[in-house]
Amino acid sequence: MDVSYLLDGLNERQRAAVSAGEQDMLVLAGAGSGKTRVLVHRIAWLIQVMNYSPFSVLAVTFTNKAAAEMRGRVEKLLGRDVQRMWIGTFHGLAHRLLRAHYQDAGLPQNFQILDSDDQLRLLKRTIKALNLDEKQWPAKQAGWYINGKKDDGLRPQHIETWDPAEKTFLQIYQAYQEACDRSGLVDFAELLLRAHELLRDNKHVREHYQKRFRHILVDEFQDTNQIQYAWVRLLAGADNHVAIVGDDDQSIYGWRGAQVENLQHFLRDFPRADTIRLEQNYRSTSTILKAANQVIANNSDRLGKDLWTEGTEGEPITLYSAFNEQEEARYIVAQIKQWQDQGGALSDVALLYRNNAQSRVLEESLLYASLPYRIYGGLRFFDRQEVKDAVAYLRLVSNRQDDAAFERVVNTPSRGIGERTLSLVRELARNEQTTMWNAARKMVNESMLSGRARNAVASFLDLIAQLEVECADQPLSKQTDRVLKGSGLLAMYQAEQSDKAETRVENLQELVSATESFMPSGEEDMTPLAEFLAHAALEAGDEQADAYQDAVQLMTLHSAKGLEFPLVFMTGMEEGTFPSQMSSGEPGRLEEERRLCYVGMTRAMEKLVMSYAESRRLYGQENFHRPSRFIAEIPSELITEVRVQTRIEQPAARRSRFHTSASHEAFSETGFQLGQRVLHQSFGEGTVLNYEGTGPQSRIQVNFDDAGSKWLVVAYAKLTPL
Ligand code: ATP
Ligand code: MG
Repeated sequence: MDVSYLLDGLNERQRAAVSAGEQDMLVLAGAGSGKTRVLVHRIAWLIQVMNYSPFSVLAVTFTNKAAAEMRGRVEKLLGRDVQRMWIGTFHGLAHRLLRAHYQDAGLPQNFQILDSDDQLRLLKRTIKALNLDEKQWPAKQAGWYINGKKDDGLRPQHIETWDPAEKTFLQIYQAYQEACDRSGLVDFAELLLRAHELLRDNKHVREHYQKRFRHILVDEFQDTNQIQYAWVRLLAGADNHVAIVGDDDQSIYGWRGAQVENLQHFLRDFPRADTIRLEQNYRSTSTILKAANQVIANNSDRLGKDLWTEGTEGEPITLYSAFNEQEEARYIVAQIKQWQDQGGALSDVALLYRNNAQSRVLEESLLYASLPYRIYGGLRFFDRQEVKDAVAYLRLVSNRQDDAAFERVVNTPSRGIGERTLSLVRELARNEQTTMWNAARKMVNESMLSGRARNAVASFLDLIAQLEVECADQPLSKQTDRVLKGSGLLAMYQAEQSDKAETRVENLQELVSATESFMPSGEEDMTPLAEFLAHAALEAGDEQADAYQDAVQLMTLHSAKGLEFPLVFMTGMEEGTFPSQMSSGEPGRLEEERRLCYVGMTRAMEKLVMSYAESRRLYGQENFHRPSRFIAEIPSELITEVRVQTRIEQPAARRSRFHTSASHEAFSETGFQLGQRVLHQSFGEGTVLNYEGTGPQSRIQVNFDDAGSKWLVVAYAKLTPL
């Protein structure tokens, strides 16, 4: 049989790796050098040439998306399906193992996975049952503690501590685990730990899989944690062969317990492994590659790799310096439109950012421009739990009868209104055909509840009434701020110490920004709050572009790992945003940020655009930042700088080329010129930046000296030319 096609489209070293005999190997190579491609071809080779059944191959990837893609590519190469091959993430495979051997794993057959939200709720109940004060022992923190211990392979009985605080967390861990075991629940960390214990403690199970999985292949090995590596070692008996691929320069999950040292441990533990280095990059233009290589060269302790390309030089990297984040987003949208006009597909475009909260402004600009988009690995801004909580408070303050909002926040943060009390309220509301609010009011007034429940409900009703008074006649952003603080929502997330809680606090503060720059159209029968709520609801309810629709791809830099796109935007390239504030002063974390930058840059195939905003309103605060140090690390000859100048420095006509959405005829219609100075009643003086639409719908973008950049409806804005 002619199998040479399995080696087509591979270079010499890749071929050597793909067609290697029965052996262990490490493919250590930089971004875009074909590591994942080698894995795919290797699997096909094992099956087609070495006659392994798909059944005896185990492949591990980092995301489910990558796993599905890998299976698809193998099937395409082989021309048949490989359903029997195990391919998935560590979590997915652990789940599969536990399902198959639930008895040996000590689980009931119908055990269920507990997702992060469920885990939190169970922890809350556990903490309450232990009669601990939830404020002092937040469930989030307990979860963080427990998951960390599980990732290190530790059960409560393995942990000894003299620290009184840790003793309490240990007690919670113990009780929580008992509750999980009683109800047959398995959290994410437990999946990995239990699968590990299953293999470790059951010789027959271990030997079964060692016999079965003759070849084990792992992608993105640099981001495995301790328990995942321990797993691989257990599965690899004397006669198994392990092939791992990785890139130490792309290790970006150290903060979550990943150990890049696993690459070296592998060489120690599998001494017969061949190391294969790939040095040719097939993904990016030489300009992009050179720039990325220069940036990563600033890190120390690298295993060291050369990466070159035969690719074309391509276009220089565009560096765009915006006044602020709104203007940054508008520039990006204009560029995407241009790409589209030139026949480019939207799905070939990726917008990358450091933090989820940064997506809001980008999303709004895309929506406004009617460009479909898809967010990977995260919810859209107005769909996020904490944002929905906050919006529910705003809704309730503006309309007490809003039952959905009432239900959502009546006991968030927890104020001792239990499910039992709520069901009484629901029942009364149902019987009297009224709203939850009215029913609750009645139950309080007529003492239809027991003392404690009555007090709890009464204080919630009072809180909403109080917030309503405080919010009256306040600007929208003040109202939001009051609600976040008065409701205890902000404090609740602030008290929790986990990365996710941190993000939630940031998102809440970002909501204040959103209300600040929200420009009500001034419709007569709607308050600004009502208008904003409608806007939020529409945005949240709007369908995500579906998987098959041509849509711009939005994701954090972390979730872009392993992917590639012809056109990549890296946004928010500012000190304090990227590298993040938290990493400054910590060399280890700063280097991880730099690796993240390397990951971001090397996603780009044809064109890379980096942008930063001189002032950024994020998390409710306007900040002025210097451009990211990573920009300075790119040789300047590889960069073209695009900058919006102030009126004095550059005449309006020239600037307009940066705003392709503005048409010249439309301009004259408004009576305003680009770069013109104008006065607004509340925002003060500013400079006209851009213009959009015609007739009564026309909008104008003004960069106000104090209030920042805003889009205004010309008909309502009452601007005075200066
Ligand atoms: P990353 O580190 O980002 O995960 P990688 O090393 O896994 O990158 P791949 O995604 O496998 O790289 O390959 C990058 C791109 O180069 C892909 O589009 C792939 O199809 C292409 N490619 C890989 N090897 C070759 C080759 N020998 N000839 C032509 N194209 C190749
Ligand atoms: Mg890859």
